Amino acid sequence: MTVDVTRLIRPHLAGDVKPYDPIEPPEVLAQKYGIPAEKIIKLDGNENPYGCSPKAVEAVAKAPLQFYPDPLQRNMRNALAEYTGTDADGIIAGAGSDELIAFIFQLFISPGDKILDFDPTFGMYSFNARVYGADVKMVPRNELFEIDIEAALNAVDSKTKVIFVTTPNNPTGNLASENQVRALLDTGRIVVVDEAYYEFCNQTSANMIPEHENLIVLRTLSKWAGLAGLRIGYGLMSPDLVRRIIGIKPPYNVNVAAEAALLASLKDAPALLKNVNLIVEERERMFTLLKEIPGVTPWPPSGNYILCQVTPGKAHDIYEGLAQRGIFVRFFNTDRLRDSFRSAVGTPEQTDALVEALKELV
Ligand code: PMP
Repeated sequence: MTVDVTRLIRPHLAGDVKPYDPIEPPEVLAQKYGIPAEKIIKLDGNENPYGCSPKAVEAVAKAPLQFYPDPLQRNMRNALAEYTGTDADGIIAGAGSDELIAFIFQLFISPGDKILDFDPTFGMYSFNARVYGADVKMVPRNELFEIDIEAALNAVDSKTKVIFVTTPNNPTGNLASENQVRALLDTGRIVVVDEAYYEFCNQTSANMIPEHENLIVLRTLSKWAGLAGLRIGYGLMSPDLVRRIIGIKPPYNVNVAAEAALLASLKDAPALLKNVNLIVEERERMFTLLKEIPGVTPWPPSGNYILCQVTPGKAHDIYEGLAQRGIFVRFFNTDRLRDSFRSAVGTPEQTDALVEALKELV
């Protein structure tokens, strides 16, 4: 029997669904470009060049993998409460902050509801909108990539449920101001402040949570703690919203290895934050070096990455030229970013290799 499964698929997903445009792991890049994997300089995923804490590796090796994890994440939430200076009942962890973004859609979005997104920004909000049948109201950032608050407030209508604010913004590096976040909170919609790169800028909206039931702050251990591969992030919000997320999340969403790594990383935070400092120092050096290359204009960074604008029409060739040399940056084939690429801040040696290659290519 042949069955036409298409007619069984949810209508908004029955057509051609565009998958998320992901980055590839080093071995795939190595094969594609014929370069030994160990020679690859991977600057396309805003990953941590210093890796994770050796204590996290030890903890993972000893983790009780035969048992399911704690569905209420007690140890993790207590440790995160201490790290963030907030209460454990206002914290929930996810398999990466990506999973928390999906939970937010599951909790608030019915097909036809709207989200507000400030283009250009991180792609997971509009990706989830596609999956959950939400409309995306794109409010373009201004010419400096700042959020246009007036346009944002004008764009809110009766269908708007969730507003996503990324700060520092990925890929442009802009920080949202407290006044901007407050103005968005005053709309009474859910405001998600995505602070994936918090440790690289130390600016947060978390202090506003006690007076704002509609504020969710997202963080991750992917960047500062070098745990992108284990998938572990968390959200800070009111205890009521945490209970509601617990009500919908898969019980064992954060695996035992990720839990062990998170606990060990938070204990080893002083050492990990030293690496963050190295990255921040290197970011400033890299910014200066990039500014000196004719035809490259870096945008002021505040995360662990720098967006570089290049001569119109040249970005893809530069991407390919770098890739041929084993250096991988992120190219975005979108209207506002077509003439730019984003590079993570790596080690000083990686910066030097990138800068030398760019000088040859531009
Ligand atoms: N938010 C932003 C702004 C990001 O850049 C990223 C990762 N690229 C994420 C969230 C997702 O992080 P995680 O690895 O915790 O899913």
